[in-house]
Amino acid sequence: VDEATWLGSDDVDLLLKWLKKTKRYRPTRRKLGLFACACAHRLGDRIERELWTRRGLDLAERLAEGTAAPDERDAFETEVDCQPAGTHDEHVHIACWALRIPHETLIWKVPETVARSVAGDARRELDGSEGAEQCRLLREVLGNLYRPARIAPAWLAHAAGLVPSLARSIYDERAFDRMPILGDALEDAGCADAAILDHCRQEQQHVRGCWLLDLVLGLR
Ligand SMILES: [Zn+2]
Repeated sequence: VDEATWLGSDDVDLLLKWLKKTKRYRPTRRKLGLFACACAHRLGDRIERELWTRRGLDLAERLAEGTAAPDERDAFETEVDCQPAGTHDEHVHIACWALRIPHETLIWKVPETVARSVAGDARRELDGSEGAEQCRLLREVLGNLYRPARIAPAWLAHAAGLVPSLARSIYDERAFDRMPILGDALEDAGCADAAILDHCRQEQQHVRGCWLLDLVLGLR
């Protein structure tokens, strides 16, 4: 996978397989878990009424971020197993896969399986393939591995730390619509990196794990 393929591919299996092998970059469990959750959330309206699926995905995100207790997963899975047959949420299996991210041996299997399941459901229920959007989400989380961006300490210190405090509030409140404001603050602080400014101002949706927010917040 060269830079053009990384930036342009719509084959998420190919990119994940390459990531697994390459020494160029080793994604953290957090990044892979948040990517899996972002793929699942693409089902959007389909899971809106599915309480268990949404609870499972919320827990999966906290497990990926390391803010959930390991026994929360066991408790959730037990509750799901105890649901009477035929009453399970349609997509809860996807959430249950995302919950396996803390398993050392499943660190790659989780994003692969979630992406494949969502793409399968999307083929049946939405229109077209999810491949292109899943690849975009992978790049949203990991950035351009061939040209890693750098954040200058001076940008973070400018205006009493406006840039990191904006980034923190966007992250905590999932207020990704404020990314253009972060772009303006970065520019005011002296950032002229087109990749960074363009990313803040792009039309496409950001997710938790966004490479730029992570860089500003020092998250991996
Ligand atoms: Zn982003």
